[in-house]
Amino acid sequence: LPVPLGLARSLARRHGSRTLVGVAGAAGVRAMAGRFIAGEDAADALPAVRRLWKDGIATSVDLLGEATVSEAEADAYRDRCIEVLRTLSAGSARFPARPLLEHDQHGELPRVNLSVKVSALTPHLRAGAPGRGAASAAPRLREILRVARDLHAHVHVDMESLDHREAVRDLTLSLLAEPEFAAGPSAGIVHQAYLTDAAAELEVLLGWARRTPRAQPLSIRLVKGAYWDHEVVEAQQAGWTVPVFTDRRACDREYERLTDTLLDHADLVRPLIASHNLRSVAHAIAAQRARGLEPDAVEYQVLRGLGDPLAAALAAEGLRVRTYCPIGDLVAGMAYLVRRLLENTANDSFLRAHASGT
Ligand code: FAD
Repeated sequence: LPVPLGLARSLARRHGSRTLVGVAGAAGVRAMAGRFIAGEDAADALPAVRRLWKDGIATSVDLLGEATVSEAEADAYRDRCIEVLRTLSAGSARFPARPLLEHDQHGELPRVNLSVKVSALTPHLRAGAPGRGAASAAPRLREILRVARDLHAHVHVDMESLDHREAVRDLTLSLLAEPEFAAGPSAGIVHQAYLTDAAAELEVLLGWARRTPRAQPLSIRLVKGAYWDHEVVEAQQAGWTVPVFTDRRACDREYERLTDTLLDHADLVRPLIASHNLRSVAHAIAAQRARGLEPDAVEYQVLRGLGDPLAAALAAEGLRVRTYCPIGDLVAGMAYLVRRLLENTANDSFLRAHASGT
């Protein structure tokens, strides 16, 4: 690490990622960011994506960026997404065959998998932004879905903070229900277990899946949630009930309960278990085996740089694994790193270990 972890944290909190890049030095930051980020753009990231595929690990590529504040930036993000789909599709034709990564009981799993953020597809989703909310993201997301359908790629819509949940969910599900997308593309959404109403929200997703038959069933990526601090602080400042569990064990228990529910519906949706917590992952594996579900019926997901040894171990067990691979330039990469650093203290030991070269 070019700067001590504690200093990095306090600089990041006080000055943001641009200043931190300046302080830490571009070369040092680039070296560290390389552990977490697959490349500056799709062409740059393709060798890393190909290496993972060769090792029997699928990928989902995510474009990093700063907050979208104008229609032009939202257009640019859409165009970059389409460019990633095209570049990776062209490059993945030569990937070696990996049946576990390419099929499950529902059918084909695309080699190319892109994660997108609705807040990057419109300037109107930001807190306090005037205007039409997620609706203005619809034409841009529709274009991405069309390209993905034509290229047989998968699009996964990330989940953001609670104030965006309804907009992100309704936009995603309403587009996927459009007749032009009945046959594809393969697509998915994210479900956050740290929200105290997560069980009810999962029923909303399962209810939609029951009512909306598609050739490619909805993928549901179960995560704990990346905006814990934001949700707590915002609720406290506004005097609202805190919407997330405030006890780690309660959050972990909920994650296990939701894993069970998701795996009970593996015939209806594609369950994706995204966690680096060994207990949470072990619970999912036990639940998968207890239900007699085939190895290809559940997918395990990790973030590049944070879950690499876990991904390798799960793949060696014959399970399907996908690594989430961010793509972006130095400043975007630094902002991503800072978010991961601040996300939870469990990352400290990981970063210290890597900082000292172990
Ligand atoms: P753990 O250490 O087991 O859990 C840490 C999590 O616990 C924190 O992130 C927080 O959610 C929760 N937590 C922290 N403190 C407390 C507390 N005091 N009380 C209760 N709960 C607490 N997140 C999103 O929000 N949207 C996404 O689209 C998204 N996509 C992801 C994709 C992949 C492939 C992966 C692996 C993660 C993704 N995440 C996403 C991040 C995820 O939500 C978690 O923040 C991250 O994985 C850490 O959780 P864990 O289970 O790995 O680790």
